Amino acid sequence: MKVGFVGLGNMGLPMAKSLLGAGHALTVWNRSPARGEPLVKQGARMAASPADAARGADVVFSMLADDVAAEAVSVGAQGIVEGLGKGAVHVSSSTISVALSQRLTDAHASAGQGYVAAPVFGRPEAAESKQLWVVAAGAQVDVERVKPLLESLGRGFTVLGEHASMANVVKLSGNFLIASMMEALAEAFAFTRKSGVEPRQFLEVFQSVFASSPIFANYARAIAEERYAPAGFALRLGLKDVGLVLEAARAAEVPMPLASLVKDQYLGGVAQGHGDLDWSALGALVAERAGLGKPPR
Ligand code: NAP
Repeated sequence: MKVGFVGLGNMGLPMAKSLLGAGHALTVWNRSPARGEPLVKQGARMAASPADAARGADVVFSMLADDVAAEAVSVGAQGIVEGLGKGAVHVSSSTISVALSQRLTDAHASAGQGYVAAPVFGRPEAAESKQLWVVAAGAQVDVERVKPLLESLGRGFTVLGEHASMANVVKLSGNFLIASMMEALAEAFAFTRKSGVEPRQFLEVFQSVFASSPIFANYARAIAEERYAPAGFALRLGLKDVGLVLEAARAAEVPMPLASLVKDQYLGGVAQGHGDLDWSALGALVAERAGLGKPPR
């Protein structure tokens, strides 16, 4: 396929390299042109503008820092919309806002072009070794067309439906999960270290019990399927344990804001009569406040 690639930063460069390696005819553009030189040495063509990279391409990818960059390069002067032919597809892999993804869908539709949002999970090393996971959404005909390209970027992809911005919702949710996990790790390491546990020992326990265990997967399934009874571990016992953590953390003078928040969530659950549900029923309590219905009785 004739493929354009706009944005050769830490992520864009290895992704473009994968597409080149898969045998596609690649035209690249980057604001700082020097970033494209290694690709030109491997046979890519350097474009004069994003419009130039998109002109004549079947598919053009973009991988840019943020909303400002993605909007300028897509709908600005000499942008992708200006150059892309009718029926060709823009695959936007940047982590951008849901609102911008909707605006880009409209801009491309008005020009008779396709738009697929395909943000990625994985760091530059994963992009280099084709281990990314892609979440894609857009009109079915456009997603079908770009599937072979998504395949050459990583170890797999999930197609989320016809509304492109749903892929951005999922990408942002994923980053929220990582950030929350990071805060939980930070609090647990600070609490254990200040209580006299060697970080490498806690790391060993973490790696043995949590790092590659089914715990995360099983609780995610329970929340997805809204399956909170019978309780494997009752919510009221979860409240007890998070309370014990906070008691010890208070004695050790370790602030644990995430633990305090979780304790209050559990306390609310017990107060509402849900203490005998599984402690994963936190999923139902949060869903109820989002207007998604009441937890099971
Ligand atoms: P990066 O290394 O900072 O690269 C940013 C790219 O955007 C560069 O090509 C840069 O061009 C370009 N750019 C910035 N502002 C611009 C503007 N106003 N006009 C034109 N081009 C502009 O960032 P990255 O790590 O590759 O991340 C790219 C996207 O992927 C981001 O949305 C990020 O959130 C997402 N992401 C990153 C990771 C990660 O681990 N790094 C993982 C998954 C997703 P110059 O080279 O000229 O500066």
